[in-house]
Amino acid sequence: MTTFTESYFTMTETDAIIYAKDHLTFFSEDAELSCKEIGDGNLNYVFRLVDSKSGDSLIIKQAGPVARISDEFKVSPDRNRIEHDILKIQGELVPEFVPEVYHYDPIMNCTAMQDLSNYTILRKAFLTHQTFPQLADHVSSFLVNTLLLTSDLVLGHKEKKDQVKAFINPELCEITEDLVYTEPFYDCPRNEVFEGTLPFVREEIWSDETLKLETAKLKFQFLTKAQSLIHGDFHTGSIFVTEDQTKVIDAEFAFYGPAGYDIGNIIANLIFAYVNGEQTIYDPIERERFTGYILTTIQDIINQFKEKFTYAFFDHVTERVAEYPGFLEHYLEELLADTAAVCGLELSRRVIGLAPVQDLTDIADPDKRAAAEIACLKAAKVFILNRHDFFHGEDFTRVLQEHT
Ligand code: ADP
Ligand code: MG
Ligand code: MG
Ligand code: MG
Repeated sequence: MTTFTESYFTMTETDAIIYAKDHLTFFSEDAELSCKEIGDGNLNYVFRLVDSKSGDSLIIKQAGPVARISDEFKVSPDRNRIEHDILKIQGELVPEFVPEVYHYDPIMNCTAMQDLSNYTILRKAFLTHQTFPQLADHVSSFLVNTLLLTSDLVLGHKEKKDQVKAFINPELCEITEDLVYTEPFYDCPRNEVFEGTLPFVREEIWSDETLKLETAKLKFQFLTKAQSLIHGDFHTGSIFVTEDQTKVIDAEFAFYGPAGYDIGNIIANLIFAYVNGEQTIYDPIERERFTGYILTTIQDIINQFKEKFTYAFFDHVTERVAEYPGFLEHYLEELLADTAAVCGLELSRRVIGLAPVQDLTDIADPDKRAAAEIACLKAAKVFILNRHDFFHGEDFTRVLQEHT
């Protein structure tokens, strides 16, 4: 017997095999296990274990003590508890859209879950311009069920406050507060701006006092608006897809925050796929197929979200004052304004800030890359400054079409 769970250490591939044999009931006694670390993120280790006899496999995700990109970010491995606990909640609210969880270890800070290796990460699929017709339906259902059913509209307010407490996530919130809400909007040494984009950033972002004031207001909203249990990192790198299925992973940033954060985040990341398609697909018919798909998907996510939210609201609402005529409309208007704002923030931070996206960095031609990034920033300004004008899916795609 090993001493594995007596104290925390970061596992190697060999350790993960011993761990699985000692602590998981998933594999049979005579399993012949091999293991590979397949993590591509910044903060964690992802081990894939396969039994060569049965073909069974699983994933162990372990939180490391520091970020892999930079030890500037010291983040408590307790975030694995948050990721595990929200996976359990999502497993009840939206079982079809999350991996199954097998095991959680609070000492080793690791979670064992369903292996989704037969799925593709959506960002990668978009880089080869694949399309997924059911994505908007799945994403809008995921968002409605996770965001509505964890809010004060539905949960008793004491129970909701207990949930707020359980999901206090100060360190990962701080990463978002810095990287999304602060650093992109001044000449922060940690920013990494592409040369061709830099003049636009200096003149139109860092010098725009009106814009900066709005980002300050939005930062305080992120700090204080405990509306729903949000995923917190809902970009195309956190979504696994097949032809007809969708699974959401990597919710370690989860906490009680503004519901529009998740919606705005995914819309912005669809926009990155759109501008990548615009700049890198040469055949006009092929380009129209892909960019047209992205536009439709953005519209459908927003419009289906509102429609499904409205139905689910009347099915599940428990707070009587929320049933006063006009309240639902008010709630959705505010939610959509928050969505537009976060979409603008995410568009900005992925161009200017420390964590760029491959949809942009993979555009090899420097002029085209700058064009794509500047288009994102122009749209971002409209999303942030005019955030109260967004209510329909078409309002979002119109901005995109006007700036690309
Ligand atoms: P991080 O928090 O470090 O970003 P992720 O949870 O996003 O970690 O996982 C990083 C990568 O590991 C994913 O992009 C994917 O390739 C792989 N991965 C994570 N979870 C699974 C899973 N359940 N099944 C298969 N691969 C996974
Ligand atoms: Mg990730
Ligand atoms: Mg950059
Ligand atoms: Mg992560």
